[in-house]
Amino acid sequence: MGRVYNFSAGPSMLPEQVLKEASGEMLDYKGTGMSVMEMSHRSKAYISIIESVEARLRKLMSIPHNYKVLFLQGGAYMQFGMVPMNLMTTNKKADYVNTGGFSKKAITEAKLFGTVNVAASSEDDKFTYIPKDIAFSPDADYVHITSNNTIEGTRYVEFPKTGSVPLVADMSSNILSEEIDVTKFGLIYAGSQKNLGPAGVAIVIVRDNLLGKHPENTPSMLRYSTHAEKGSMFNTPPTYTIYLVGLVLKWLEGLGGVKAIEAVNRKKAQLLYDLIDRSDFYTNHVNKEDRSLMNVIFFTPSEEMDKKFISEAQKCDLYTLKGYRTVGGIRASIYNAMPVEAIEKLVEFMSRFERNK
Ligand SMILES: *Cc1c(COP(=O)(O)O)cnc(C)c1O
Repeated sequence: MGRVYNFSAGPSMLPEQVLKEASGEMLDYKGTGMSVMEMSHRSKAYISIIESVEARLRKLMSIPHNYKVLFLQGGAYMQFGMVPMNLMTTNKKADYVNTGGFSKKAITEAKLFGTVNVAASSEDDKFTYIPKDIAFSPDADYVHITSNNTIEGTRYVEFPKTGSVPLVADMSSNILSEEIDVTKFGLIYAGSQKNLGPAGVAIVIVRDNLLGKHPENTPSMLRYSTHAEKGSMFNTPPTYTIYLVGLVLKWLEGLGGVKAIEAVNRKKAQLLYDLIDRSDFYTNHVNKEDRSLMNVIFFTPSEEMDKKFISEAQKCDLYTLKGYRTVGGIRASIYNAMPVEAIEKLVEFMSRFERNK
C-alpha cells in the first residue's frame, strides 16, 4: 500500500522529505557509524544536532535573545501543570480563557496551585467563537490562552493585550503555522506531534525574567530554570524526536519559512471553508472570523451520513477524518505537512459525495 493523506489531529503527517532523510541516516548518521537514536546526548554529533534545532527554531520564529528555548518531555499536558507550578507564585492567581477541551484541562491543573479566574469563556455557545475585549485581572501572575483549539476548530486571529501581565499560550496545534510576534508572550509551549515532528518533546519558549519564580520545594525536573541552565540536558532529552523536529524545521526553511507556509495554510483552509460555505449539505458552526487554519470541522446533515462520509473517504486514501468524540462530525486536521494536493483531493471528494449522497 502506498502512502495515504492522513488528516489525523495528532500525531499527524510528516513531510515525506523528512521521513526519507531520516531513513537515509538511520544506520549511519553522517559517518558516525551509528543512528542518532544510539548516540550519547553528550556526544559532539548530538550537541551539534540540538544546537542547530534551537538555532533553526529561533530563526524561523524570530525568537529574541532574552527568551530561552527548552526541549522537555511530558507533552503539552505536563505544561498544564508546569506553568502554574512555576509561574502562579507571586499572587497565586492567574486568568485563564476557556475556549475548549484543552483550555479546560489547563484550568483543572492550574487549580491545584492557586486561584484560577476564568476571565472569559465561549462554553455558552459550544466553544464556537473566541471571546474578545476581555477584562483581565491586573494582579494575575499570568494570563493563559489556547491559541488554536484543536478539538473545536477555532483560533485567535488577534492575541489579547494583557499589559504588564505575562501572556502564556498553548500553541500545540498551530505553532509555526503563521507568523506571530514572540515578544507579545511571556511563555509559549507546544507538544511536538502536530506541526513540529513526532510525539515526544514539548517546546517551551520562555522570557528569561520568568525563570526562577518556582517555590523551593519544586522538583528539579519540574523547574524551568533547571532546563534553562542546563540547555535541556539536565537529564537525557528525547534525542531522536528532537533530531526529527530539526529535519522538519529544515524542510520548513526550504519552503521559505513561516511566512511562506502561512500563505499555503491560508489557501488550504480557504479551499475547504469556501466549499462548506457554498454548500447546503456541509456546515461549519464556527464564527467565521475565528476559524482555525489547522483543524477544519464540518458536518453533513446527519450523523449517519458523517459516518458514511468518513468510511468512503478512506477508500479514496483520505484517512482519519472522524471528528473528536465530544464534537462529532468530521475534522480535517491540515497541519503544515499536509500538502495542497491533499486538500484539492478532499474538496473533490466532498463535492462528489454531496452529488451522490
Ligand atoms: C494536542 C494538544 C494538547 C495535548 O498534547 P500532549 O502532547 O498530548 O500532552 C494540548 N493542547 C493542545 C492545544 C493540543 O492540540
